[in-house]
Amino acid sequence: RSKRRGRGQITVYSEEIAEEMRHGTQVEQALRRAIIADEVEVHFQPIVNLADRSIQGFEALARWTDGELGFVSPSLFIPLAEERGFIDSLTETLLKKAAETAKHWPSDLFLSFNLSSAQLTDPATAFNVLAIINRVGLDPRRLELEITETAMMSDPEVAAKVVDELHSIGIRVSLDDFGTGQSSLGRLREFAFNKVKIDRSFISEITIDKSAEHIVRAILAMCEGLNLKVIAEGIETEEQAEKLKELGCRTGQGWLYGKAVDSAATFALIEAQQKASADSAKLYILNH
Ligand code: C2E
Ligand code: MG
Ligand code: MG
Ligand code: MG
Repeated sequence: RSKRRGRGQITVYSEEIAEEMRHGTQVEQALRRAIIADEVEVHFQPIVNLADRSIQGFEALARWTDGELGFVSPSLFIPLAEERGFIDSLTETLLKKAAETAKHWPSDLFLSFNLSSAQLTDPATAFNVLAIINRVGLDPRRLELEITETAMMSDPEVAAKVVDELHSIGIRVSLDDFGTGQSSLGRLREFAFNKVKIDRSFISEITIDKSAEHIVRAILAMCEGLNLKVIAEGIETEEQAEKLKELGCRTGQGWLYGKAVDSAATFALIEAQQKASADSAKLYILNH
């Protein structure tokens, strides 16, 4: 009986694998179609000054909803596009869309865009990125590219070159998900980063777990000394924001301030902010 169950399990197991592979291929084909049909969208999550919640920029996040598959997470389809060799065309589409939106924002707002690992080890990346944003007409000084430590590790030498080149054309580079990869603090000296984004896993524990607080405190002190700006990721509660401000963190993003929204909604957010600050200026004049 147990043998039969064993055999049954094996059968179920291999069926699951087959199903997964079918699914992977199905997702791949649907994604390829979606790229060609221009159906992969970019949404934007505000990055704010923690002191007054004013928006300083937005992070572009890929969004794709397939007719049959429904919503597919970028954590799934970005790695898939990397594995199956079409991340370059996907990135080009996404960066083009993101830059087209960002160029209409007030010029003091920046666009933060995620580079994938394949691009970090491609010596043509700086050139390709510049070609895309030049065509769109976005000033490179308004663009920040987010990269992860894991992505840099497959070829640190080429990655360092890519980062340097991006720098020399005025594009800033942030280290994303800091604290989660194969963290080596030395990397912060070897690479010309401008910003460090503290991973959400620390922020979500910061009011619960003293050790998370200590780590964030240490990251902030270190970045201050290295002249690196810091963004806290994944702020969901007022308590987390209060704690971060208390520790001296000035910039953050997270659901507390807003989820990623479409292009039109970014303009509405920006307008609302401008109106609010105009109103408070008027009020200030009235009261003084
Ligand atoms: P990431 O770059 O670290 O992006 C932050 C992720 O955290 C996003 O997930 C965002 O929606 C989510 N997030 C933001 N605030 C909160 C919060 O307060 N609470 C929680 N629970 N989550 C929050 P998303 O959009 O699912 O993206 C996942 C990952 O996929 C990104 O992580 C990034 O690595 C990758 N990705 C997304 N868009 C792109 C893209 O255009 N290109 C590349 N290469 N990768 C992308
Ligand atoms: Mg990111
Ligand atoms: Mg991140
Ligand atoms: Mg992440």
